Amino acid sequence: MAETNGIRIEGLRKVYGRGETAVEALAGVDMQVAAGEVVGLVGPSGSGKSTLLKCLGAVIEPTAGRMTLGETLIYDDGWRLGDRRALRRDRIGFVFQAPYLIPFLDVTDNIALLPMLAGRSNAESRARARELLDALDVAHRARAMPSQLSGGEQQRVAIARALVNRPPVILADEPTAPLDSVRALGVMRLLDRLAREYRTAVIVVTHDEKIIPTFRRLYHIRDGRTHEEVGEGRRLD
Ligand code: ADP
Ligand code: MG
Repeated sequence: MAETNGIRIEGLRKVYGRGETAVEALAGVDMQVAAGEVVGLVGPSGSGKSTLLKCLGAVIEPTAGRMTLGETLIYDDGWRLGDRRALRRDRIGFVFQAPYLIPFLDVTDNIALLPMLAGRSNAESRARARELLDALDVAHRARAMPSQLSGGEQQRVAIARALVNRPPVILADEPTAPLDSVRALGVMRLLDRLAREYRTAVIVVTHDEKIIPTFRRLYHIRDGRTHEEVGEGRRLD
């Protein structure tokens, strides 16, 4: 029976440019992530990691292949989806290396903004923000401005923001790179717990040696192709 949740990528190709200068960044990638699972994506610089996340997040258009999110076939040699902005807003949470918080909004409003844009009331949006801040142990910083937070706190706020619309998919590009080992493992513990609680499928792009042993399953990407590997799955709690 077909999986009814998570992420499925089949034969995904991405070629940048045309003719002489064309670069084949993805050369037929296969990857599957179940709901509630956190999977690592590891590879050298230039191997296509960001390209893969951008295709999956409908930020750029693939050249060929198939991508399925949950029960929805979103790409099959062409977009199968009218509103890609709604997909990005409602079904995918992005976490980047830099937190990209809005400097003139406090922590709560940085998080509450997204559900407000999706049409929820201010009260409900703020309540969701507070619940996540609590879960991420940054509730005491709820009224602080981003510039007043440490790097680890900013990253936790960015994760709260990625989760606030309860997307079935989270795409994280080097989320722990600026953090020390304790904070980096803290972020992974959090992603793992939230993945299980909210049944979220999570892909973490990383070359951070501190967190690679935490994955139960990971994919290596090289020359635009993925190879699946069983990870150490070091316990986080
Ligand atoms: P990674 O995230 O693993 O470092 P990228 O996905 O950023 O790798 O890049 C994969 C390949 O595609 C590299 O050869 C890179 O130079 C190329 N590339 C990435 N973005 C573009 C672009 N906008 N135009 C042309 N080539 C690109
Ligand atoms: Mg990259």
